[in-house]
Amino acid sequence: MNKNFILKVMSLCALLILFYCEDIPEKIIEEIEPPKAGVILSFDDAYIDEWYDTDQQLKKYNWKGTFFVCKINTLRHSKIKKLQELQKEGHEIAGHGLHHYNAAAFLKDHSIDDYLHQEINPMMNLMNFYGFKITSFAYPYGARTKQLDTFLLKKFKIIRGRAFCEESASQQNSYYDHSKLVYSFSVDDTHEHFNLTHLLNLLKFAKKNDKILILNSHKTVKNVTGDYQTKNATLEFICKYIQSNNMKFYTLSDLDNLN
Ligand SMILES: [Zn+2]
Repeated sequence: MNKNFILKVMSLCALLILFYCEDIPEKIIEEIEPPKAGVILSFDDAYIDEWYDTDQQLKKYNWKGTFFVCKINTLRHSKIKKLQELQKEGHEIAGHGLHHYNAAAFLKDHSIDDYLHQEINPMMNLMNFYGFKITSFAYPYGARTKQLDTFLLKKFKIIRGRAFCEESASQQNSYYDHSKLVYSFSVDDTHEHFNLTHLLNLLKFAKKNDKILILNSHKTVKNVTGDYQTKNATLEFICKYIQSNNMKFYTLSDLDNLN
């Protein structure tokens, strides 16, 4: 074997070792560093026109939302186009069932296979046809079963239920904890556990402890006229808090990349 060849092999090995060693610290840092404190703003059902208008107002905060859409088969083309535009801007479009069934009630007299065939598969097919990349799902009414969680996690990267309501921010289970099943806290105005003081405490807790707070809303409005409505002013309050506290907006699917 000639000397030059041996020298070349040795220097190649040295280079590989160097690259390998340089890689290690970065990987370790990634695993150790907690995610930056932030918020997931999610929206349920099919209030496309209202969400689109809200986006016009909140764009200046560089915000990101996750829109869980149900009844996609009933939406007019103009609404599909608005959803496509939202996705293009970096918001996430996600699944909320074709019919908006209460899964726990449905499964009392149907099989999981029935649920998937009626509620999930046709929704996925149609949403994929429209170009939506669906990797997250939110249970209508937060109604779920553990067995269904297992099946849905084969189809989705992250699934969302609804949080139990706790008085203390530290007890509220609407923070991401590296599980594929997450729970959200409702910021709808007439939700009995919602008020701005509690919301502020939840945000402060996220900031202080590097947590990601998961919130949900339904119809976004200027003035509240009924249940399942969130004031745009509440959403703006959250955006301002995030901006002034150097926090980050996440979408549900961003969580999958943090694991
Ligand atoms: Zn819903």
